[in-house]
Amino acid sequence: MAMQASLKERYVRVLERLDAACATAGRKRESVTLIAVSKLHPAAEVAVAASAGQLDFGENYVQEALQKREDLADESACRNLRWHMIGHVQSRKAAQVAGAFALIHTLDSRKLADGLERRLAALEARQPVLMQVNVAAEPQKSGLMADDLPALADYILERCPHLELRGLMCLPPVFDAGEAARPHFARLFSLREELRGRLGLPLPELSMGMSGDFAAAVAEGATMVRIGTDIFGPRPPRV
Ligand SMILES: *Cc1c(COP(=O)(O)O)cnc(C)c1O
Repeated sequence: MAMQASLKERYVRVLERLDAACATAGRKRESVTLIAVSKLHPAAEVAVAASAGQLDFGENYVQEALQKREDLADESACRNLRWHMIGHVQSRKAAQVAGAFALIHTLDSRKLADGLERRLAALEARQPVLMQVNVAAEPQKSGLMADDLPALADYILERCPHLELRGLMCLPPVFDAGEAARPHFARLFSLREELRGRLGLPLPELSMGMSGDFAAAVAEGATMVRIGTDIFGPRPPRV
């Protein structure tokens, strides 16, 4: 079981690095949730991480996420996992994701908010969500422009009583760049502060930081880091 040993070793190493990042930033370890990003990795590897104690898992593709969870339904170590949708959700898939995830990190349009709200009303369920921000205003990238955040937030508060707005998420334009991503994380933090003041809501969550830059994200106030490669190894190609 060499694969399992190495996955567990990588996982423990990430936990140590996260402890160190929190200590350096003068933050409590409990203030940061580690989300293990299992996209494109098989359900069996999720089970290995879960049996090592990992509770929060992130997935990008709706079909894959739902299938993986079905595959793990009989695994006792996987009974209490919290699943996060961290990939772009097309509004036509809103009904499939509504109520199915502990947190949806990628709300970025009224159309998606409406689709989620409709389904949640039918289910009589509430759904915690984050708004995804395109922090560097990159063309072709999903996420809201910073200027459009207040309008979507107002819309959610006024029209979508089953959506619970918990904070913001971003994917900075630079990958595996460590400190270079830091200004983008600082920007997400300040956008959250502005929105907090405006809406009078706590907006406690900031989902930011991946394998290559999570220490910088923790230093800038991340409450959730999304780590895939450093836990599961390189991703197999998407088929
Ligand atoms: C894949 C992915 C991650 C994990 O990235 P790694 O570099 O493998 O840690 C984090 N967040 C999002 C939105 C992703 O799509």
